[in-house]
Amino acid sequence: MVSRTGLTSVVLFAVTLGCAGANAQASETGTIRYAGSQYYPPLESLNNQGQAEGYISDLVRAMAASTGDSVEFTLQSWHAAQQSVLSQDADVIALIASNARSELYDFTTPFYYVAHSIFSHRSGPQFGSLEQLENQRVAFVRDSFAYGEIDTLPVPVNAIIVEHELTCLQLVANQEADACIEVTITSNHLAQIYRLPVQVTSPPFWPQAYVFAVRKGNTTLLDRLNTQLANIVVDGSYRDVYQKWASEIESKPHSTWDHLQYVIWLFVAIALLAVIFILWSWSLRQRVNERTRALSQELKKSQQLQERLSYTAAHDSATGLFNRTSFFEKLEERLQQTPHAATNDFTVITLSVVNVERIGITLGYITSLRTIKAVARILETIPDSVVAHFGSGLFGMIYGGAAPVEALVKDLEERQLADANGIEPQLAFGVSSYPSRTTVNLDANELIRRAMTGLAHARKKNIALGSYSPDIEPDSLNLRLLNDFQRVQCSQFVLHYQPQLDLRTNTITHVEALIRWHHPELGLLQPLKFIPIFEESGVIGKITRWVIAEAIAMLKRHNTDLQVSVNVTTRDLVDEDFLPFLQHKLQDFDTSRIVLEVTETGIFEDSGQAQHCIKALRQLGVQVAVDDFGTGYSSLSYLNDLAIQEVKIDRSFIAALKKKQRAQTIVRSTIALAKELGLDVVAEGVEDLETLQLVQALGADRIQGYYLAKPTAEDALDLSQLVRDHLDTLQ
Ligand code: C2E
Ligand code: CA
Ligand code: CA
Repeated sequence: MVSRTGLTSVVLFAVTLGCAGANAQASETGTIRYAGSQYYPPLESLNNQGQAEGYISDLVRAMAASTGDSVEFTLQSWHAAQQSVLSQDADVIALIASNARSELYDFTTPFYYVAHSIFSHRSGPQFGSLEQLENQRVAFVRDSFAYGEIDTLPVPVNAIIVEHELTCLQLVANQEADACIEVTITSNHLAQIYRLPVQVTSPPFWPQAYVFAVRKGNTTLLDRLNTQLANIVVDGSYRDVYQKWASEIESKPHSTWDHLQYVIWLFVAIALLAVIFILWSWSLRQRVNERTRALSQELKKSQQLQERLSYTAAHDSATGLFNRTSFFEKLEERLQQTPHAATNDFTVITLSVVNVERIGITLGYITSLRTIKAVARILETIPDSVVAHFGSGLFGMIYGGAAPVEALVKDLEERQLADANGIEPQLAFGVSSYPSRTTVNLDANELIRRAMTGLAHARKKNIALGSYSPDIEPDSLNLRLLNDFQRVQCSQFVLHYQPQLDLRTNTITHVEALIRWHHPELGLLQPLKFIPIFEESGVIGKITRWVIAEAIAMLKRHNTDLQVSVNVTTRDLVDEDFLPFLQHKLQDFDTSRIVLEVTETGIFEDSGQAQHCIKALRQLGVQVAVDDFGTGYSSLSYLNDLAIQEVKIDRSFIAALKKKQRAQTIVRSTIALAKELGLDVVAEGVEDLETLQLVQALGADRIQGYYLAKPTAEDALDLSQLVRDHLDTLQ
């Protein structure tokens, strides 16, 4: 709180009237003593030098000057100021006109208007109306207009009475009072000047006229003052004073400047908003751009990946040429573009670096790869061609060039030699022309197959270029025989029989049935030409059954004790219908007259089922012989377990007997062991007497071979004549 005594000061004019202001005459000049509040800016207040200043003070000075009077100011507390007028220590006071005050004072015409407001702490409760002040601590200035109105307030309040307007506000600022009711304009100024955290929180109320007041009855002074007021309006000094203070005393109507300011602020706000919007949209655009960039990068990456993947899928990694899959596709495309009748022929070429494997083995994998790449680079340069690497030095080419293939091959071979860095790749070419004379199934697959056939032919014949023709088909005969068999079945087969001589009795006891095919176009075909392919293609079962049936029929026709050996394959043994078939065939027949020959290797090829069948055959009474014994390195004792009765020593050992000691040893020990196991031993392929004598000496039971007889047709087979001839030879 500000000390009252410290701030109270008195402004003295040089001339002081010795009597009361009430005695002053309009015609006389004198000093008018003016009282007021020291804290009432901008209306009146003491400045730093202790002088009165403000709108009222200036007005009073102008008024006094208009009548030649002087003026003396005493600015102090509001209560003291009023008291000084009432006690005639001062003459005039400017105040708010009110009924209560009109009891004590006489008023001039109003020269100004004020209103009141509630002032609250900025961060405290904000009182917006008088009603809200109920029971609040409300500060008032002693003897103020507001205090005078306290009984008219709509609600009771806890009034705090202070001397100065400033104190009122300070109480609120210090939160010792909740609010104060004060003249709006002056208290706003005070709060601003003293930087108090106090603000107007209500609309203005109590609009009242502001007047100069003199003690009741001092009409002379009152008239003089009214005259002065009239004077200054007329002489323009009122306007000057007003203009001087206008900016502070006016309740700020919207001036042009204000409008301008408002417009400026509006503009600034709009500009700010625009800037914010621009920044926001810019950042949005940036973000969108970034995202778009990221997306397009991702898209680009995935496109690149896609391209890489499809490139990898279509190309050979070693050479960068197309791979086999794309080569097939390219060829199919080409075929679709080129109908069969078209004249613009092309050629499918396959090319192999024949010695790539040898280069790999001797010089290393990298070198072989380099050789393949070098070949690839040269092939790439061939005009009008599509080249692919199938892998391992095998290339494919669709050649549509004008030069004949032979010339191209020659050229390639020469360039190859020139480019080879000392390593000479050996090239072989296979060619398949399109359209071909035979236009069956000429798809990409067939064309490439034909080129491969040409290549295989070239390699087999050790020539550079193999052109496809049906004649070089390795399997053409096989295919034809299979087709023919499907058509004619077993009708063109015949059995030839090759006798076996029993060396102990010098009698022909056995014959082996050996099949032949009387082919109408190909002549008499030996079994090795067709048996293996029939075995492979699974039709052997039909043939075996035909042979067995035919052999049994033969035995029945001759009505002798002869035994017949029939060759069966492993496929027959594992066929579950085979045993029932035999059982059926051998009904009412001496089963022991049938010997089934199974090759040594065949027995062990499919151990389980085949061996099971051999045992079952034995139970049926059928004899089982091991054919080609010695080629499969199996042990005899093991064969014994299978209930086999006969061993046929392979003719390769028999043929070698005369020359090779080792063959003799093998045959000797085989026969010896077989004897021990109680097996019959047949020596196959005996071609001369010397061999016959040798095997006889070694203990073989029977012989079979050209020396005795070649396989012959049934009608040419004269067994008794054979024996006779044989006996003659032996003697
Ligand atoms: P294999 O069972 O070893 O038959 C003996 C083969 O040796 C016969 O050949 C016969 O003509 C030949 N041969 C006999 N003695 C001599 C000789 O002193 N010197 C020479 N160099 N060869 C002699 P073939 O008839 O050509 O039969 C070959 C093979 O075909 C047979 O060998 C047999 O494995 C098979 N085979 C023959 N006919 C049939 C059959 O009906 N069914 C089955 N599955 N295979 C059969
Ligand atoms: Ca045989
Ligand atoms: Ca044999």
